[in-house]
Amino acid sequence: MSNRLLVLGWHNIDPTPGFPDPPGVGRLGFAKQLRTLARFATVLPLQEALRRIEAGEPLPPRAVVLTFDDGYLDNLELGVPMLAQHGFPATFFLVPGFLSGTVGAWWEDLSGAFERARASRLTFAGVTHDLSTPASRQVAHDAVRATVKKLDHASRVAEVARVSEELEPAPIAAGDGLFMDWGGAKSLLAAGHEVGSHTVSHAILERETEAGQLTELADSRRELESGLGISVDTLAFPNGAAADYSATTTRLVSELGYRCAVTTRAGLAGRSDSPYEMRRVILTPTTDLPSVASKGWRKARTMVGRRVSSLSRR
Ligand SMILES: [Zn+2]
Repeated sequence: MSNRLLVLGWHNIDPTPGFPDPPGVGRLGFAKQLRTLARFATVLPLQEALRRIEAGEPLPPRAVVLTFDDGYLDNLELGVPMLAQHGFPATFFLVPGFLSGTVGAWWEDLSGAFERARASRLTFAGVTHDLSTPASRQVAHDAVRATVKKLDHASRVAEVARVSEELEPAPIAAGDGLFMDWGGAKSLLAAGHEVGSHTVSHAILERETEAGQLTELADSRRELESGLGISVDTLAFPNGAAADYSATTTRLVSELGYRCAVTTRAGLAGRSDSPYEMRRVILTPTTDLPSVASKGWRKARTMVGRRVSSLSRR
């Protein structure tokens, strides 16, 4: 089906406090995923896919767009050389606050504080959690994460800071840079990749006032454009599920002149769908690509399962 587009999304490649995995597993898994894509897919830049969709031109067979959210440093150090081996272009949705180091990634800050916690108990939302075992620590971590996700950005950051203080984390080792800086973002462009916005501070937009959303959407674009000397007209919604943006959000995105916004709602992006709610399949490096299909993603199974002889292999 040449008018459907598979947009794939990753975050980190190597393990982080927020997304732990055994060492080395991430990069091996990602390399395997890229080899799978080289066999079955036609990978094209997001801007080219949008151009074809807008012009009513057909997409190539098994068209796939690769995206990365948040600007993890390993995207640049590991991902870019691996993408280059296959000649794959990608789009990186970056957060100016992370690039400048003025905003922390709250989920990594929280995970790091739990990982390094020296306190034996945490009282949160009226419940006292025992922190003496990894399992009990995980229960407490899950409870805090689920609650703070419901808050607006400023309250979430304040609550993560308060909880982190109560956890009495051991001091962090030097060189904790999980995210790339502006120089790293420029290196992505120099390697031929595209950059889009992921808001100024990674605010979950639906939790913000309309004015707050407008600031996140407009300023992120302006900061990326002036910091990188490019035009930015693509966006990925932070968190990106249906409950994480609203009709107000998509209206603002449209009014600001963005060309598209991608979500984390699984499925294929279709020509007839709104460009401001594009479906996207989020992977971790250890996701077995064909297994995405077994979770009910019927169209993808057709794509992954078919090996058409006319398919040009790269
Ligand atoms: Zn994100």
